[in-house]
Amino acid sequence: QVQKPKLILDDGRRLDGRRPDELRPMKMEIGVLKNADGSSLVEVGNTKIIAAVYGPREMHPRHLALPNRATLRVRYHMTPFSTDERKSPVPSRREIELSKVIREALESSVLVEQFPRSSIDVFMEVIQADAGTRLASLMAASLAIIDAGIPVRDAIAAVAVGKADGVVVLDLNEPEDMWGEADMPVAMMPSLGQITLIQLNGHMTPEEFKQGLDLAYKGINTIYSMEKEVLKSKFAEMREEGS
Ligand code: ADP
Repeated sequence: QVQKPKLILDDGRRLDGRRPDELRPMKMEIGVLKNADGSSLVEVGNTKIIAAVYGPREMHPRHLALPNRATLRVRYHMTPFSTDERKSPVPSRREIELSKVIREALESSVLVEQFPRSSIDVFMEVIQADAGTRLASLMAASLAIIDAGIPVRDAIAAVAVGKADGVVVLDLNEPEDMWGEADMPVAMMPSLGQITLIQLNGHMTPEEFKQGLDLAYKGINTIYSMEKEVLKSKFAEMREEGS
């Protein structure tokens, strides 16, 4: 059993050198797969996710089709090489649960009423796991859905906050996720001011919770601007091709 390391160093910085309110470096790209209708690559620190979207398309098996809306089918999966120790490729309990959590968060953003009887299939592969994979996957899925041309209420932006050595921190790294006192993933549709996912693992006082939520809002706004840049460049390209 490894001993818990000090998470906040004497100069107030974290193990990866960040200040408590600093995000990890992020990268986002859309249209990374030729065969999918929409796709994306999202990197948050060392966490790396690929998402692929197929649809809207006719639902198979047919009897599962809903008469008034599209069905979202969502799979979150970790590749066997995504963690230090080889992970079994068989979907674990955790992956099944995260697939459901991500589906529910995504569903509130997609205009499913516009596509009765069809399915929208969303696949997320964790290529490398280094904390925050559920949120990076959710953002990757949201970008891939938009890349597929499927109408949404807003793009989803997300970040986890938590508590490490008594300090409220933004965008947990793996040691903080593992050893910290609290972990709270938050996802939003920022322009609508709506939260689509919030979970809390561990303990925070009401004051720390409020401070954490404020920190999450700030992080989400920064991430949302990056998403808009990525999407804008794609749709600018499309306009050029069209003219
Ligand atoms: P999230 O990835 O959304 O933070 P968790 O809170 O369950 O989800 O944190 C799991 C983290 O633990 C992963 O991001 C990864 O960095 C690390 N990890 C290491 N080995 C495994 C494993 N076999 N299965 C899942 N997570 C693992």
